[in-house]
Amino acid sequence: MGKRVLVTGAGGFIGSHLVKRLKKEGCWVRGVDLKYPEFSETEADDFIIGDLRDPYVCKQAVDMKFDEVYQLAADMGGAGYVFIGENDANIMHNSALINLNMVEACYRRNVKRIFYSSSACVYPKYNQEDPKNPNCSEDSAYPAYPDSEYGWEKLFSERLYLAFHRNYGMEVRIARFHNIFGPEGSWNDGREKAPAALCRKVAVAKLKGLDYIEIWGDGKQTRSFLYIDECIDGILKLMRSNWTGPVNIGSEEMVTINQLAEMIMEIAGVKLKIKHIPGPQGVRGRNSDNRLIREKLGWAPSMPLKEGLKITYIWVEEQVKKALSEGRL
Ligand code: NAD
Repeated sequence: MGKRVLVTGAGGFIGSHLVKRLKKEGCWVRGVDLKYPEFSETEADDFIIGDLRDPYVCKQAVDMKFDEVYQLAADMGGAGYVFIGENDANIMHNSALINLNMVEACYRRNVKRIFYSSSACVYPKYNQEDPKNPNCSEDSAYPAYPDSEYGWEKLFSERLYLAFHRNYGMEVRIARFHNIFGPEGSWNDGREKAPAALCRKVAVAKLKGLDYIEIWGDGKQTRSFLYIDECIDGILKLMRSNWTGPVNIGSEEMVTINQLAEMIMEIAGVKLKIKHIPGPQGVRGRNSDNRLIREKLGWAPSMPLKEGLKITYIWVEEQVKKALSEGRL
């Protein structure tokens, strides 16, 4: 029989893709989330709709022996959600509760191995002020100074899982994701991130015959973006390795937000002006540093950004077409 696996946050972007991959591998999968996946039917064998802030729901979710648990649930979103200040209390409170409850439920059920999805947002602001030369090596996370409460919560929860590892022998695997993107993620609900948001803006301009798009800030801030399939490869490789982490799972192909927009326009076959407007931006520069993942897993992501963007743009354009035809956009 295949492995028995639990995925919390299985109704979300990364969780729903992970469930599909685990099913392809022949695992029996239980998903848990506040909601079902928005863009396709879940492939999980069992799906619990529940709120993981409630310890009883976590206990129910872990009511049998699982070979692997992937904890992806979090109160999260893109810059328009985490950097505006208004969601800080919810982000910290909700995600910390989920992690406190889940680690306890897993400990009580003697779960041997749990994966925790941390973020590049843990890295200190002072190392990400130069857009050309950010430092995101894993050991640079301390002295800590994340630029958002979202990052502080992630750092706290990394330490929580690591403490259970040290004190109770629980096997934990911790990844710090750097901007994961792809089809079937948020694109227009206030939680979308730069790649999906820019694909939407370009598609809307193209379909409505506008000659410009808007970008928050000067667009000179840098980031790297990792396509979802490679993120899933990385999660599974890390989970099945003997390296605890934390380790970056991200691309090293750093681009400015302006370059990202240009790439998307090229894919869409349009040339649009860019209007820079005030908006939340986060740090000036960020890039994955893949030296540790290469050393520990003998692997690192390699797919060119443009390839993933092509697939994503086609999907977002379809969503935009549908929304326009239904008068939702
Ligand atoms: P997502 O928002 O699509 O998925 C998170 C899921 O958690 C959502 O479906 C949400 O409904 C669920 N959730 C939230 N609160 C819950 C609760 N109280 N009970 C049950 N379910 C709850 O986000 P994602 O992009 O799939 O991210 C997955 C994980 O990876 C998160 O922990 C996120 O912080 C982390 N991460 C993602 C990225 C990225 O670029 N997508 C980057 C860094 C870290």
